[in-house]
Amino acid sequence: MAIGTRLFRAALLAVAGNRAAKAFASRYGLRLGARQFVAGETLDEALDQVRALNAKGIEATLDHLGEGIRRMGEAEAFKQEYVRLLDGIRAAGVRSNVSLKPTQMGIALDPEACYDNIRRIVAAAARHGNFVRLDMEDSPHTDATIGIARRLQGEGWTNVGTVIQAYLYRSDDDIRRLTDDPMNLRLVKGAYKEPKSRAYPRKADVDANFRRLIEARLRSGVYTAIATHDESVIRDVQAFVQREGIDRAKYEFQMLYGIRGALQERLAAEGFRVRCYVPYGKMWYPYFVRRLAERPANVLFVLRNRTKN
Ligand SMILES: Cc1cc2nc3c(=O)[nH]c(=O)nc-3n(C[C@H](O)[C@H](O)[C@H](O)COP(=O)(O)OP(=O)(O)OC[C@H]3O[C@@H](n4cnc5c(N)ncnc54)[C@H](O)[C@@H]3O)c2cc1C
Repeated sequence: MAIGTRLFRAALLAVAGNRAAKAFASRYGLRLGARQFVAGETLDEALDQVRALNAKGIEATLDHLGEGIRRMGEAEAFKQEYVRLLDGIRAAGVRSNVSLKPTQMGIALDPEACYDNIRRIVAAAARHGNFVRLDMEDSPHTDATIGIARRLQGEGWTNVGTVIQAYLYRSDDDIRRLTDDPMNLRLVKGAYKEPKSRAYPRKADVDANFRRLIEARLRSGVYTAIATHDESVIRDVQAFVQREGIDRAKYEFQMLYGIRGALQERLAAEGFRVRCYVPYGKMWYPYFVRRLAERPANVLFVLRNRTKN
């Protein structure tokens, strides 16, 4: 990654956590251009989008936006929304599981209460035969997130998994452990601002590690979601699974709502399992900024569309 791009990304990711910027964005609503990446502010709007994806052969994982709560009391409403969401998925008859951010459930404030919140959501999902993915946030929460997923699994909940980020040096070890004692994982490159002491600073190294981790997991046969829009990685995975004779029931591709829609449709039409991550809700601002930071061209795209509106 060029130095300019790296600085741009770091600056945007710093803004993602800024409270004043968040308040400004909420006031202007999804008009700021976030609509491209966010399915709407309400559950009904999100379910409509999931229906449309399902009609194209694409499954979904619904995410109720929100992260980094300041008081443990805020987690209660978020927990209830996830239970409502799971009921909504069931009632609508759509094909979708859910993804949640542990900092929305209080992992940074009270890990035990966070565990309890997530356990209740996982139990609600199990009642509907559904699955809960714990998204992976920045590295101060990696151990605790894996810990909660492990603890739930140890208690017999088989409908929970988490995410491993290829940019972290530690991910090799995490993958080994979560494969020996198998857990359903989503593999990603990683979206947060991390120090050089914890994460590969060069994109080429992240990409190379991503490929290594994907191959190790696919070889192991433990269910793996490969979450990327990187077409060269997707092509290599397709060649790898063909060469190694890996069953399509052992993995899926995942992409984000609003990104590479045609590629999602093409893979689904070719018979691959594809899942689209569909975020909705009012707290879309940090999510939106991470999407802008991933691709500088998105900022221009959003600005251009703003001036047309
Ligand atoms: C389903 C899903 C779930 C995720 N969950 C997590 C998580 O829990 N924790 C976490 O840290 N990260 C998560 N991520 C984000 C991930 O870490 C990357 O930041 C993101 O996927 C961009 O990397 P890439 O693999 O697409 O490859 P890149 O090399 O960044 O991009 C490859 C190509 O994809 C396209 N592209 C990528 N990003 C964008 C964008 N924002 N807008 C438009 N085009 C784009 C561009 O054409 C780009 O050239 C998730 C990603 C997906 C797809």
